[in-house]
Amino acid sequence: MAEGTAITSTTLNALPKIAEGKVRDLYEVDSNTLLFVASDRISAYDVIMSNGIPSKGPLLTQLSTFWFHLLPTLVPGLRTHFLTLSLPSQIPPSQIGQLENRSMQVRRLKVFPIEAIVRGYITGSAWKEYQRSQTVHGIPMPAGLLESSPFPQPLYTPSTKAEAGQNDENIHPSEAAKIVGEEYATQIEDLAIKLYTAARDYAAERGIIIADTKFEFGVDEAGDVVLVDEVLTPDSSRFWRKDRYEVGREQESFDKQFLRNWLVREGLKGKQGVSMPEEVVKETARKYKEAYEGLTGAKWENAVTGKD
Ligand code: ATP
Ligand code: MG
Repeated sequence: MAEGTAITSTTLNALPKIAEGKVRDLYEVDSNTLLFVASDRISAYDVIMSNGIPSKGPLLTQLSTFWFHLLPTLVPGLRTHFLTLSLPSQIPPSQIGQLENRSMQVRRLKVFPIEAIVRGYITGSAWKEYQRSQTVHGIPMPAGLLESSPFPQPLYTPSTKAEAGQNDENIHPSEAAKIVGEEYATQIEDLAIKLYTAARDYAAERGIIIADTKFEFGVDEAGDVVLVDEVLTPDSSRFWRKDRYEVGREQESFDKQFLRNWLVREGLKGKQGVSMPEEVVKETARKYKEAYEGLTGAKWENAVTGKD
């Protein structure tokens, strides 16, 4: 990683672009199918940096694919939006380069407007809230928790999925039920906890703590809940090294913490149009690669790409 040029935008004539998220470009393949393309864009504090991290998109796509294959074996009955890593036949050879290894075709679904966050350990915004009010997303917590300590059991802490430019808002699970309805809220919470628990146990055997993560779910024509978006990547999760873990302090994580710390130090937090220096790009790339290799047990250089 961090070799080559970052691809921070994609342009296709063959398919209509239906959305551009902070990281992904979404194209319509047909009425039931999307081409889900992970660019090398990186955002921190909800702002996209002006340069990217070379190969970050392929890494996110390959790591999500790894989980899309593994998770249904750990959580029987799980449905996911993953269809294939192959590109749709409409793409002409001249436009393949920008998509290669970073794209998957997925089922096009109605996405629930909540982020299903599960926390195994108290950190980040949850730790800040706890220090203020001894609650996490409004849920009362026992006294005496130290920073980074595990919760007695994984905690489901949803947030709203804000429109572009707005910040997501932490909400109490009862608020989520008002947004998506009781029945779906219960199914989403149960699934999110099951997925987190299975992934946490899998990662722990490989020396990685999944401190928290965010899932998104959609619903298909049959009314079934389906796991969508990216899954258990450094963009959507906090991964910590087990051998360096210590309660009572902030942990060094595999994710964007390095970038966030640099932004804060330089007084650039929340500013638009920030360009990351080479050392931040390199270090961030190194952390992403470490996460990929730790979780999959495969070398990033040898990542098998372009097949189902
Ligand atoms: P947003 O687009 O809300 O700002 P983001 O910046 O995290 O979120 P990206 O990750 O760049 O967005 O883009 C992915 C977008 O695609 C998200 O809005 C996500 O909800 C949506 N999405 C994921 N899976 C599906 C799917 N199967 N069908 C339709 N939309 C999906
Ligand atoms: Mg996203």
